[in-house]
Amino acid sequence: MSQALREFLMKKARLEKVFKWGVRWSLWPVHLVTSCCGVEVAHTSAPGFDAERWGVLPFHTMRQSNVIIVEGTITRKMARVLRQVYEQMPEPKYVLAMGACAVRGGLFWNSYHVVQVDTVVPVDVYISGCPPTPEAVIRAFIMLHNKIKGKPGPYVEPVKVDLAPYLPPPPKPPAKPAPQPQQQQQQQAQAAA
Ligand code: SF4
Repeated sequence: MSQALREFLMKKARLEKVFKWGVRWSLWPVHLVTSCCGVEVAHTSAPGFDAERWGVLPFHTMRQSNVIIVEGTITRKMARVLRQVYEQMPEPKYVLAMGACAVRGGLFWNSYHVVQVDTVVPVDVYISGCPPTPEAVIRAFIMLHNKIKGKPGPYVEPVKVDLAPYLPPPPKPPAKPAPQPQQQQQQQAQAAA
């Protein structure tokens, strides 16, 4: 849909409410299963929890999805892929960061190569837990429903923790080797010239 047509439908034809209603009940997530959290999303869509009751229909291609669930750790190499996947999704699009690893690094909080999802793409809903239960995933989708509707929170954002005191000090720069007598003479000669 072109931007002009979209603006016409939303503002002039006042279809914004209908549009948002359609988006809320058509949340089609693509999974970025990088770790063990992915198992719980499978439960969420199984008959016991049946997330499709909230319009959540898992999809396999990001170009036809409007939600991405990041299920696990994102490494520096994977961050580029996550950004690429996100950019390929059509608007409006939403991101769910699932599990302690995606939210703040989890077990790998001080690893040299694990990054937090919200430093790569904007996160709409955070799901805490290790792993989060299917109920927590469904709750996240209900929170997303409310966010699309424009209802106030509760949108809990994880606290930014200053990890500096817990990390080892940065390595000191290597000491300069002492100049050899021959070098010293050369330097003195250069200084005198
Ligand atoms: S939060 Fe726990 S279950 Fe989820 S990816 Fe990390 S270690 Fe695995």
